[in-house]
Amino acid sequence: MEKQAGNLFAKVTIFVAATGRCTAVLPIPVPSMSAHRQPSRIHCLTFNPFQENTYVVAAPNGDCVIIDPGCYEAREEQALERLIEREGLKPVRLLNTHAHLDHILGNAFVTERWNLKPELHRADHDLLRAAPVYSEAWGIRLTPSPEPGAFLEEGDWIRFGGVEFRVLFTPGHCPGHVVFYNEAEGYVIGGDVLFQRSIGRTDLPGGDHAQLLSSIREKLFTLPDATVVWPGHGPETTVGEERVENPFL
Ligand SMILES: [Zn+2]
Ligand SMILES: [Zn+2]
Repeated sequence: MEKQAGNLFAKVTIFVAATGRCTAVLPIPVPSMSAHRQPSRIHCLTFNPFQENTYVVAAPNGDCVIIDPGCYEAREEQALERLIEREGLKPVRLLNTHAHLDHILGNAFVTERWNLKPELHRADHDLLRAAPVYSEAWGIRLTPSPEPGAFLEEGDWIRFGGVEFRVLFTPGHCPGHVVFYNEAEGYVIGGDVLFQRSIGRTDLPGGDHAQLLSSIREKLFTLPDATVVWPGHGPETTVGEERVENPFL
C-alpha cells in the first residue's frame, strides 16, 4: 500500500508493506535546505508485542543513528541487521527517547552488534535500571540494557554525516523523555509524547499528565506546522494537524 501525505512545505511518501509495518521512508525535502545538501533517510521498523517503532536515520554518507531499538525476537534483530546491511549503513550512535521497556528491548543487541552504548536523559536512568524488574511483571524476556555511555540534555546537538538533531526535553510520559528535532528537514523523532490524534499515557510510574501537556504545548506545538512527527507507535503526523485535530489538547 502506498500512502501520500503532503502539505505546502513537505511531501512525504511512505510505503507500507503488506504486513502493515512501515519499512521505508523517503526523504522529506523542504525549501529551507540548501540545494546541494542531501536529506537524511528515515527507516521505520515496527517491533515487539507493543508494536513499537524503531527508527534508523541515515545520513547521505551512510552514517546512521539507531533510535529506540525495540527488537525482541531473533527475527526482529535480523530485520534490523538486514536493513543496515542492505542500505550499507554504519551505525554511529544508539539513542533512546526514553527508557520504557518497548523502546530499550534491543539496546543490548545493538551494543553487542555495533559496539554502541545507549544515550538517554539522566532522569530516565532509574527506569532503565529497573527494566529487568518490571519486564518480569509484563511477562517480557529482557536482556538488560547496558549502562548509558552518555546522558542527553535539552539543547544538545546530535551530529552525524551532516545531519543535525537538536535534543528537546519533553517529560510527562516519563521523567526523562526527549525528542530529536531535525529543524533543517522539518521532522521530529518523537517517542511517546504526541501520536496521531492521541498522546502518551501518563498512568505508568513517573508519568505526569499536566507535565506532558506542557511539553507538547511548549516544545512541539511551537515548531512549524509542517513539522512531521514520527512517533513511537502508529503512523506519522504533523504538528499542524495535531494542533487542530488532536482531541486531547
Ligand atoms: Zn513509553
Ligand atoms: Zn512506547
